[in-house]
Amino acid sequence: MPDPNEILRRVFGYDRFRGAQAEIIGHVIDGGDALVLMPTGGGKSLCYQIPALCRPGIGIVVSPLIALMQDQVSALRQLGVRAAALNSSQSYGQQLETERQMRAGAVDLVYVAPERLMTDAFLTQLERCQLALFAIDEAHCVSQWGHDFRPEYLQLAALHTRFPEIPRIALTATADSPTRREIIEKLKLENGRRFVAGFDRPNIRYRVAAKAGSARNQLLSFLKAEHPGDAGIVYRLSRNKVDETAAWLRDQGIDALPYHAGLDKTVRSENQARFLNEDGVVMVATIAFGMGIDKPDVRFVAHLDLPKSIEAYYQETGRAGRDGLPADAWMVYGMQDVARLRQMVEDGDAPEAKKRLEHRKLDSLLGYCETTRCRRQVLLEYFGDAGLPCGNCDTCLEPVESFDGTLAAQKALSCVYRTGQRFGAGHLIDVLTGSDSERVRNLGHDKLTTFAIGREYGKDEWRSIFRQLVAAGLLRVDIEGHGGLALTESCRAVLRGEKAISLRRDAGRKKAASRSTRRPETGIDPADEELFKALRAERLVIARENGVPPYVIFHDTTLLEMARRKPLDETQLALLSGIGKAKLERYGAAFLEVIRRFY
Ligand code: ADP
Ligand code: ZN
Repeated sequence: MPDPNEILRRVFGYDRFRGAQAEIIGHVIDGGDALVLMPTGGGKSLCYQIPALCRPGIGIVVSPLIALMQDQVSALRQLGVRAAALNSSQSYGQQLETERQMRAGAVDLVYVAPERLMTDAFLTQLERCQLALFAIDEAHCVSQWGHDFRPEYLQLAALHTRFPEIPRIALTATADSPTRREIIEKLKLENGRRFVAGFDRPNIRYRVAAKAGSARNQLLSFLKAEHPGDAGIVYRLSRNKVDETAAWLRDQGIDALPYHAGLDKTVRSENQARFLNEDGVVMVATIAFGMGIDKPDVRFVAHLDLPKSIEAYYQETGRAGRDGLPADAWMVYGMQDVARLRQMVEDGDAPEAKKRLEHRKLDSLLGYCETTRCRRQVLLEYFGDAGLPCGNCDTCLEPVESFDGTLAAQKALSCVYRTGQRFGAGHLIDVLTGSDSERVRNLGHDKLTTFAIGREYGKDEWRSIFRQLVAAGLLRVDIEGHGGLALTESCRAVLRGEKAISLRRDAGRKKAASRSTRRPETGIDPADEELFKALRAERLVIARENGVPPYVIFHDTTLLEMARRKPLDETQLALLSGIGKAKLERYGAAFLEVIRRFY
């Protein structure tokens, strides 16, 4: 049997395994079942690709997205691996040819959609082939609680009964333990080994700010200052907002495209193809976009609307920086977002218990948004993965000052009470700061004892205070969706003066932002910048000729190494990470040519 280390070097061009890869690969090669939980970008694919190449027979890979199978197959073929896909998007003739190759043992990896795999006809075919393993990618799709549930995945349990001798490896980046348990139960993996990697994504810089004025202008400044020409994803809650934001960004000169389930199918796949095949497209999308997108050089994920939970936030932001280079998770949010999400939960037809769970999940997310601690710590603790302050999030880079907000909280809470627990933050702030507005006078709120008792703070400061009181669970945003605020049970102690409240000081954080908002360093010397650009241009030409996305030729990490180390010949080039035998032979000369121009 071939040696996994040798395959890693020769085929993939990497020096050593990462984290638990070697252990997982060894276990599967020995015929064991496994559940692999690893964050996005952790290197899950090698965990089944290498065993499939080492063990005799075919590795069958179950993958939920037909549209992306072809990319994975192209990437493997570029490495000189005999790979194929089987799905309904291919002609009958192509499918027959692949099945013939399978029987002849002329292929090492076959990607197949679950509904196809589990047909009786196909399973019978498989019995006539030699099989190396089954890999179940995006295994969280078996979970009915999750948002990516795919009923076809439930049938995969039958693989175990039908092919008891063939090892199965299930992989996912979804971190929470209920999903984990469900995967094991539904796929009958009780006897398999579990490999759980830490969930930290150290190269992602987490930042959250309050919406101030126009959120899309905040986004535009972020894009212009920090990510000109970079590929990224902007998430929005609704289809309308997606269309609107994408059109507006285009007007501002950003190469933005929309993606949501309401778009015509061909438009959707064209937009996805442009995002994958070109270098700097910004995809504005609903959460319908993202699963299975393994574009490694997504440099930022921006949220203009709040995600529904920390799990969703982690998964969506996780699409940034798979290649390990610096990337941003950037979000702005406001009180209206909270009201809208609460309302969506209420309007949904989920049972009461599920609605309560969804409200709690949103509470945790708000806690994350308003935290004064390291954001990464809060995220990882949520997944049961504690760590030290990270030094790469906004609160670490610019520690948040806090102040004794007990009195401010009391004023805000009593103002909510005196006005009848039905007004939104805007009106409450008018009352607190003693605004001479018609609405205040008409309602007689200028006669209240809380009128003008909060002049020590400006409107922005009050907005921040109200947001924090909501996040701390002292105020509830009404779920009819008008944004009205009401007291909760837990505010009694604060009103009675039995409990002190510490609040973050948001004003004056502008300067702070400048430190956490510098453009993430790719670590490239300015002198090598031109060479790097030329290498990328060369890559784009080759990618177009081959009809594959640029990163399938070489990743940015590999091009950065070329720019830095400037190899003279093929021997030196082969030493760089990400250059295996097949790619060296195919593209080595072309890239060396570019490098020589810069000597
Ligand atoms: P995942 O599926 O877990 O999100 P991938 O399998 O796509 O991650 O791997 C992420 C990136 O890391 C890919 O670009 C892959 O080529 C690279 N990679 C994986 N394993 C190694 C390794 N041992 N050494 C160097 N790079 C690796
Ligand atoms: Zn931090």
